[in-house]
Amino acid sequence: MLQLTLLDLGNLDMDRRVIMPASGPGGRIRIPVPGYLIRAGDPAAGGATVLIDTGMPRAVLSGAEDLGPWMRPVDTDGAYVVDRLAELGLHPDDVSHVVATHFHFDHAGALDAFPGATVVAQRAAVEAARAGNPRERAIVGNPALRWQLVEGDVELLPGVRLLDTTGHTPGHQSLLVTTADGPFLLAIDAIYNRAQLAADDWGAYADRDAARASARKVQDLAARTGATLIYGHDAEQWATLRHAPERYG
Ligand SMILES: [Zn+2]
Repeated sequence: MLQLTLLDLGNLDMDRRVIMPASGPGGRIRIPVPGYLIRAGDPAAGGATVLIDTGMPRAVLSGAEDLGPWMRPVDTDGAYVVDRLAELGLHPDDVSHVVATHFHFDHAGALDAFPGATVVAQRAAVEAARAGNPRERAIVGNPALRWQLVEGDVELLPGVRLLDTTGHTPGHQSLLVTTADGPFLLAIDAIYNRAQLAADDWGAYADRDAARASARKVQDLAARTGATLIYGHDAEQWATLRHAPERYG
């Protein structure tokens, strides 16, 4: 059975319009930046250690790189993914796979710390990032990375299903993870938070119609499987969940 560990990779204090453009000026919001760790079987016996998203780059977390007036990282102590993994006794070389859900800086910003892992991503996401902004191009253009490109819904390993939830970005992916504590549907940015669902505000997404369909897809699948649906950046929900060093499963 799989173990699922939720990692706190810092928070972002931002203008609410970054994630909900229809919400109007003046509001700030603080959102968690999550990562997830899956351990399947005994690593010494061919088991997998899968990191889902890497959080922000060290330079952003340290303040060396400024994100501008719209957002700033907060709660950055120990939030660099390599430091967070070290608290669990893990070195980047212990990670066999990194699932890159998409290539925004708060998800794939520390991918460069895992040259020994296989990076699993949707082909469409990599292609979009290759034509994206300079930061995204640098992330996917890193020659040290080893890729496993997938297309559509794919079982990565028993109990870990990758879900094509295009819309936030082309080739964005969510995951269905089955543990002894039940299934979890990691929506990632298919749904930021409950406020976004209530407002039906997809204006920050690359393709609004596809985003709406993907949000529906993860909600339907969670309902059908009885999975706990974890939103991508929902501070209230995140605070209610079990975090590292505790785990599910
Ligand atoms: Zn995000």
